[in-house]
Amino acid sequence: MAGEPQADCLFCKIVAGEVPATVVRETETTVAFRDINPQAPTHVLVIPKVHYPDAASLAAADPKAAADVLRAAGEVAAEEKAESYRIVFNTGSGAGQTVFHAHAHVLGGRGLQWPPG
Ligand code: 5GP
Ligand code: ZN
Repeated sequence: MAGEPQADCLFCKIVAGEVPATVVRETETTVAFRDINPQAPTHVLVIPKVHYPDAASLAAADPKAAADVLRAAGEVAAEEKAESYRIVFNTGSGAGQTVFHAHAHVLGGRGLQWPPG
């Protein structure tokens, strides 16, 4: 069923506690944890607990969960004292998406170039 946990999904396993992660924030609908390969001093992934392959499909199927991800991203940035930060949703392998469970990258703690490339 749409949104149900997927057996072969790394981030569903993190939601289930089957794969360890450094969790910095958890809400009823989201989990935020540190990226294993950080690209900035603050690099936190915020995921919905429900499984959708990317941000747009999450927003179409479950707009509340999508909004909860954005709110949690802002709360994480505030907790990390990141005055300026970037929220990134890589979508598709050509854009660098490697895990097909919707996730926001929250990047901060250093100057961030624009455009990002
Ligand atoms: P994507 O490339 O799909 O936009 O982002 C996936 C992110 O997940 C990457 O930045 C990668 O470093 C991170 N990642 C991959 N495997 C793990 C893991 O087992 N634990 C954590 N905490 N992050 C992971
Ligand atoms: Zn998943």
